[in-house]
Amino acid sequence: MPVSVMWFRRDLRLTDNPALAAAAADGQVVPLFVVDPKLWKPAGAPRRCYLAASLADLSRRMGGLVVRTGDPAEVVPAVAREAGAEQVFVSGDFGPYGASRDQRVEAALASDGGRGLVRRGSPYAVDPGEVRSQQGDGYQVFTPFSGAWREHEWGEPVAKPQGVEWGLGLRTEALPDAAPLAHMSMPPAGEAAARRRWNVFLDSHLADYARVRDRPDLDATSRMSVHLKWGEIHPRTMLADLSRRSGESPRRYETELAWREFYADVLARRPETARDYYRPELAAMRYEEPDEHFTAWCEGRTGYPIVDAGMRQLTAEGWMHNRVRMIVASFLVKDLHIEWQHGARHFMRWLVDADLASNQHGWQWTAGCGTDPAPYFRVFNPIDQGKKFDPDGSYIRRHVAELRDVPTDELHRPHDPIVDHATERREALARYQDARRH
Ligand code: FAD
Repeated sequence: MPVSVMWFRRDLRLTDNPALAAAAADGQVVPLFVVDPKLWKPAGAPRRCYLAASLADLSRRMGGLVVRTGDPAEVVPAVAREAGAEQVFVSGDFGPYGASRDQRVEAALASDGGRGLVRRGSPYAVDPGEVRSQQGDGYQVFTPFSGAWREHEWGEPVAKPQGVEWGLGLRTEALPDAAPLAHMSMPPAGEAAARRRWNVFLDSHLADYARVRDRPDLDATSRMSVHLKWGEIHPRTMLADLSRRSGESPRRYETELAWREFYADVLARRPETARDYYRPELAAMRYEEPDEHFTAWCEGRTGYPIVDAGMRQLTAEGWMHNRVRMIVASFLVKDLHIEWQHGARHFMRWLVDADLASNQHGWQWTAGCGTDPAPYFRVFNPIDQGKKFDPDGSYIRRHVAELRDVPTDELHRPHDPIVDHATERREALARYQDARRH
């Protein structure tokens, strides 16, 4: 019976997994996960912990998983050789590191007996690079991208392969072990947990999504980002469910998924923007080095209640509401004048849903140097934002214990702030004007 290797990466599921379906169609499948030190070490403890739980779930579903640690360009060909497999199946990776790693693995497989790396699908409904204007270019701005993306075909979800013969006789290491963080509450990991969460959202929260998705005090968003990050569910499956529902909220949710696809597309076309400014003119601005203000921001001690609540939610849950991600990011860049990359790195360390494309471009958008023309001078006012999106203060009270007993009409004002927002807003605009003059 022919054997192939299915190398799992960010697609930790059996259903709607085109790479796995293709591998299984060929005969026996050796399921492989490579612990790549280049990715494992820099991932923060929350992400490692979640990944370990998700791999344990995947392994249970297949009756085992072949785990090896090392450089994939050495490990993958070695496993293919041991298994006697001609082909290794993967979901395409379009990130800067993943794409170049796959090229190296492909070359190593080819030179090791002419084996092949077969890419099927990707973590996106439409592969990055596929949505193009009539002139054949990628899009710089979200709205036209999302219009063209909606027009694009993405097909129906792919059925879970039945009766797969898992090839599990190969040597394996223990599953990666990442002890849970004592102070942190992690969402349940794995394919079944993703499906459960999605069903709860569809049945109980989707109807109101368009109206209340900006409210961090309510349980109004799907919290699917972590499941999407690890591919425990595919967006195509979610889009198929949404397409059967009418109304504003399902369409709004599709638009949010389109942001995820847009940022992946932008990063694939401009891989340097994982670190560099998408709009280089803002790199010339005067910034502060990370100092005690940066530490106060990281620890949720700025004195601005909504900012502190968000930063504490991040370290307590490994997740932060989207509206609050924008508020805290704006505060770091425009009130503390610290470059977006420092904040983005802190997020990558703590978020369980940390995703290079969405994170770096979410930061760049808020900092005013990103894709869409979000004008630099649109500075979030943390007091007004708090009043508007957390009207009775329950989000702040949940995360900032020392403010629990403050009456609502005083809750949103700064409490012993590290800077004055009005002064720093003026300073930010002055620095911006300076940068434009040079
Ligand atoms: P929902 O409101 O339920 O949205 C559904 C899905 O749509 C999300 O799961 C996500 O996949 C996608 N989505 C929604 N909003 C965005 C957006 N603005 N950009 C891209 N995709 C979006 N998202 C990440 O997945 N990983 C990150 O590392 C990340 N970092 C961010 C950093 C900053 C500074 C900002 C402003 C946003 C960031 N986002 C990131 C986007 C967004 O905040 C999260 O996707 C969202 O909060 C996840 O919660 P949810 O699943 O409940 O969202």
